Amino acid sequence: MKTSKWLATSALCVLVACGGGSSSSLSVLLGSLASAQSVNGAPAMQVTPVTLRVANTPVPVKGSDSLFHVVYELELSNFSGTSAEIQGLNVLDASLGRPVATLSPADIAKRLVVRDKAAAKGSIGPSQVGLLYMHVTFGDPAAIPATLAHRVTVAIGGASVVETAGRISLAAPTTLVLGPPLRGTRYIAGDGCCDSVRHVQATLPLNGQLFTAQRFAIDWEQLDAQGRIYVGDPKLPASYVIYGKPIYAVADGTVVTAVDGLPDTPPGALPTSIPIEQADGNHVVLDLGGGRFALFAHMVPGSVRVRAGDVVSAGQVIGQVGTSGNSSEPHLHFHVVDGPSPLASNGLPYLMDGFSASQRGVSTAAYDLASSEGKPIALEAVPQPGARRNVLPLDLWIVDFPS
Ligand SMILES: [Zn+2]
Repeated sequence: MKTSKWLATSALCVLVACGGGSSSSLSVLLGSLASAQSVNGAPAMQVTPVTLRVANTPVPVKGSDSLFHVVYELELSNFSGTSAEIQGLNVLDASLGRPVATLSPADIAKRLVVRDKAAAKGSIGPSQVGLLYMHVTFGDPAAIPATLAHRVTVAIGGASVVETAGRISLAAPTTLVLGPPLRGTRYIAGDGCCDSVRHVQATLPLNGQLFTAQRFAIDWEQLDAQGRIYVGDPKLPASYVIYGKPIYAVADGTVVTAVDGLPDTPPGALPTSIPIEQADGNHVVLDLGGGRFALFAHMVPGSVRVRAGDVVSAGQVIGQVGTSGNSSEPHLHFHVVDGPSPLASNGLPYLMDGFSASQRGVSTAAYDLASSEGKPIALEAVPQPGARRNVLPLDLWIVDFPS
């Protein structure tokens, strides 16, 4: 049987009664099916070559900018033999059918990740899967819909398909409040929520499924009074302002995992070949209760003060900031996940109970420059500088924790 240009399976051919299957007749079919009405009470049907899915329940979080942030991945699968260009996307309040956010083609090109490097920006190749990294904000928590849906416009095989799918119910905004993992001033929240790439988009295929454990991770660095991440020889861990600083349990909990004995990675570059089990270096996973687990990674060799099974109290020192494992310079990698595995779990947001902030780094590029050249990072004022309570420190915010 001759199949149509982009509908390659026999089941779909039956659905669209193919046989001749030219792309032009297919476009006609798409046009008619797109507007198909329900018949005898059965739901309307539409041929949608791109399917949509949100695998993990998004949990909104109040950020240090006082907005509520909803961060999740929309999985788009192109179940056809032709490239599909995602031309537009509306995030809808599913119950009202009303848009709460719109992504332009430029937004989509920037946020849609397809592992095939040859794929055109904003497009998903034949039989490919893409993840669209979503970030929607709300000023008022009452305005956060209970359920979202996604209306996408897909250009494929000379046709334009508009489909609404990818329904997902949201959790209530997080109420998980944690204490500071560090003490003292001028810590910078590197690669934090919600539009940075290195953590937020670090989805990994593990144990047969996708996990975005680092969705709300922060790489904490510390700045000296002049805004420098390190002073002196950048190859020496001790040149970094944060190196050796004590790390504190962020809540009462039970130690699930405590790994020590791995060497510091020489600063300047990520290690080239490191087993995934050693990626977190010397690290501690703390069971916070309620299916939530905190990871503290890359500690100084020999500094881990707890063992698996230990019960720890909030504020207890558990180790020191180092650069062991998959680390290019001393920092504290911190995140919270929904399972005991720090990477094969789903990243959850959290709130920090008390800090103050008046500035933030202007961009990831400025942050990278400061970290590679040891020059003061370029800063800008944050909105409403001052004390913050029970919010998530956002990307590149400079935070003073209680000492
Ligand atoms: Zn990190």
